[in-house]
Amino acid sequence: TAPLMSGKRGLIMGIANNRSIAWGIAKAAADQGAELAFTYQGDALKKRVEPLAAEVGVKHVLPCDVTDDASVDAVFETLKADWGSLDFVVHAVAYSNKEELDGRYVDTTADNFSKTLLISCYSFTAIAKRAEKLMTNGGSLLTLTYYGAEKVMPHYNVMGVAKAALEASVRYLAEDLGRQKIRVNAISAGPIKTLAASGIADFRYILKWNEYNSPLRRTVSIEDVGGAGLYLLSDLSKGVTGEVHHVDAGYHVVGMKAEDAPDI
Ligand code: NAD
Repeated sequence: TAPLMSGKRGLIMGIANNRSIAWGIAKAAADQGAELAFTYQGDALKKRVEPLAAEVGVKHVLPCDVTDDASVDAVFETLKADWGSLDFVVHAVAYSNKEELDGRYVDTTADNFSKTLLISCYSFTAIAKRAEKLMTNGGSLLTLTYYGAEKVMPHYNVMGVAKAALEASVRYLAEDLGRQKIRVNAISAGPIKTLAASGIADFRYILKWNEYNSPLRRTVSIEDVGGAGLYLLSDLSKGVTGEVHHVDAGYHVVGMKAEDAPDI
């Protein structure tokens, strides 16, 4: 039988390096025969993303800053010219001022609130609007979220508010695009040590807490997220849309510290 993703073309946004969640999903899709395009944010990341692209035979490695409409448009123009149509998009993009991922949420500035919501939430909608035009045979849009959208998590602050809005966007986009057979889902990943996570204070403590208290008694890897991503991008999940799927070793189902959890 043909690999799961053969004949499918997808755009992967948000690879910064080989620890990025987007890279875990890209590898899983490429292993199953998907043809991919990558974007990178700024020249500093270009040299990190290009070798990864080469590893999985990616032809299009395109600059894209989601705060710059022209750069977003250029990505979709390139894909339209070369591919004509698109089957999936992975949106693994988030940003907030590091100083506001510490201290109190109540002290968030209007400026950082707007910037965080624009980059971490609105950009998914802006991309969906462009992808829709190329998804002439239906498609799958996937974004990344975190439990801090549902419950108060230490230091997550305005990012938790942005992720809550992102999860609501997934549901509204699923309804808007469903008649065109475009599915829209999110993966709520457990904590993983990535570049973005390095902005969160006490991240080591959060990792340990998840390891000791999740039902699987471990944290998750980008390969774990890659496997679930593959399912949501492929036709295996063709009846699934508007969903927030947790890949967190089950952490979100527990209500109390585990009895066997050591002190951290
Ligand atoms: P990462 O640092 O590898 O990826 C974040 C990406 O966002 C980077 O590639 C960065 O270039 C990109 N980005 C930031 N601002 C941008 C902009 N203006 N334009 C274009 N790209 C921009 O970290 P990651 O942890 O792999 O993050 C990917 C996604 O996963 C994020 O949405 C993050 O919130 C989410 N997530 C991460 C964790 C975790 O613990 N690492 C858990 C749950 C969800």
